[in-house]
Amino acid sequence: MFIVSIDEDTCTGCNLCAEGCPARLLTFKEDKNKTYVTGDECECMGCEACTSVCESGAITVVEM
Ligand code: SF4
Ligand code: SF4
Repeated sequence: MFIVSIDEDTCTGCNLCAEGCPARLLTFKEDKNKTYVTGDECECMGCEACTSVCESGAITVVEM
């Protein structure tokens, strides 16, 4: 089981992560200009597609 989280202070709002998430757990919020984990964080598959495109290192995926 994997848990995904995004550091709001580090995220630049590029939204590359959300576009590539096969589980559709990540959503860009225009009013905040950042991307958030809006799906069930526990449904993360641990594929690291999001972390591999995040240049700011804002995303953390941990195996529980
Ligand atoms: S890829 Fe990183 S910086 Fe870009 S929206 Fe996602 S978490 Fe934020
Ligand atoms: S590790 Fe994969 S499934 Fe989990 S949030 Fe990132 S892109 Fe989505």
